[in-house]
Amino acid sequence: MSTELKYTPIDQLAKIHETLNATFRSGKTLPLHYRRQQLLQLSRLVAENKDAISTAVIADLAKPQLEILMTELVPMATRAADAAKSLEEWTAPEKPAVAGHESWNVTVNKVPKGVALIISPWNYPVHLTISPLIGAIAAGCPAVIKPSENTANTSRVLAELFPKYLDTSAYQLVNGGVPETTELLKLPWDHIFYTGNGTVGRIVATAAAKHLTPITLELGGQCPVIVDPAYDMKIAAKRILFGKGLNAGQICNAPNHVLVPVEKQAELVDALKATLKEFYPNGALDKSSTYGRIINPNHFRRIQGLLKRTQGEIVFGGAVEGERGIEPTIVQNVKAGDSLLEDEIFGPILPIVPVANVDEAIEWVNRFPHALTLYAFTEDEALKKKILAHTNSGGLTFNHTFMNLAADEAPFGGHGASGHGYQHGVYSYKTFTHLRTSLDMPSDVEAFPGFTYAPYAQGVVDYLSQALEAPAS
Ligand code: NAD
Repeated sequence: MSTELKYTPIDQLAKIHETLNATFRSGKTLPLHYRRQQLLQLSRLVAENKDAISTAVIADLAKPQLEILMTELVPMATRAADAAKSLEEWTAPEKPAVAGHESWNVTVNKVPKGVALIISPWNYPVHLTISPLIGAIAAGCPAVIKPSENTANTSRVLAELFPKYLDTSAYQLVNGGVPETTELLKLPWDHIFYTGNGTVGRIVATAAAKHLTPITLELGGQCPVIVDPAYDMKIAAKRILFGKGLNAGQICNAPNHVLVPVEKQAELVDALKATLKEFYPNGALDKSSTYGRIINPNHFRRIQGLLKRTQGEIVFGGAVEGERGIEPTIVQNVKAGDSLLEDEIFGPILPIVPVANVDEAIEWVNRFPHALTLYAFTEDEALKKKILAHTNSGGLTFNHTFMNLAADEAPFGGHGASGHGYQHGVYSYKTFTHLRTSLDMPSDVEAFPGFTYAPYAQGVVDYLSQALEAPAS
């Protein structure tokens, strides 16, 4: 397959922005039947082109077919169709109880923010392009979608498919690299939804600040795993390696490193080794294995560089293939300051960090910026409560990894360094929606507004002063 990706000419970007703004101003994207039809088209785009899209994702990332279906295609086709079904419920105006002023007709109207810019990364090139778009369409927002240039095959296929399925006066896919994205970021959008690394996240936030544009930042970071010594190490091993093995560890939500009480390190490492032999009986890099590859030689070299500098002991894996294959690799006795703990690994290396006890693991977590997801393996309800109360992160998952991404009814998003804002289900819709409160004061209601008119009466001042009461404890 050709990897050639045609970039959108930079001089067309302002024109595209203007076209989408004109469409928004015309009101075309507002009716629910329009949004429903576009969402169903998006679902069809995924379902009817599963083979072409899968071929492209395999060419870019060598993702196993099951992973493509489970994490890219099925959720996107399903969520777009589910959003189409939910529009009436999501968009219904709300009537807050306004005590004593029922006649004012206070209404919370859910209006589209306007024209959105969606910038996506390479690791889930279908999912992370379409997921925010579902929210934008459901909210009635036109959008420019900028997929990653690092997944040239997938971005090219999506560029071919989008105009065949979606209304091009409202939804346009722009392909390009840093110069194109930089140009897009100069334009005044009504919302920017960026998924990717935190360094570029800061560039996006700075550009958005110039126009006071609201943003969603879906970033990454290190997702630590705390293991309670009383937990079943075999189950922990299987569930940790599920999250680390998907897409060869190139997931925002992948378990980054494991904090385990020192007396249980050997048992956990044995369980991890046994699990890897079960998952990949002929070795992960064997042709028969269902295991992905690293996106490109640059990332391969970055991950290899981390492994070369580690002071920990490599106890499983370490094999490589060409310039993109890295075997799942377990490194034990990793200590603070190690190369493997400098940043998000974003690859199939699992450092095991021995700690004195779970309390030290909690202290460790709190020394670092908020993770996108904190993982903990424990059946102890008191410990679960302690971890919930004494740590913070985008999300918290007990006793599995990655599965929080499958709970579509719940908000998914980072906190602090791992980003801010939410997506999935109604939360994607809310991201692109402005809550516009309206109030309609009947002309025959004059009693309350009447005594606020000038000249202010001393009697009203006295009445309000008396009404001012500190709450009883
Ligand atoms: P990437 O290199 O594809 O970059 C992401 C996007 O930013 C691309 O569209 C790219 O064109 C654009 N970009 C790159 N440099 C830019 C610049 N200087 N100015 C403007 N735009 C620029 O992907 P990546 O950032 O390597 O993606 C991996 C990161 O994304 C990881 O940190 C991962 O944790 C994070 N991530 C987060 C989530 C989430 O939902 N929170 C999901 C997936 C990935």
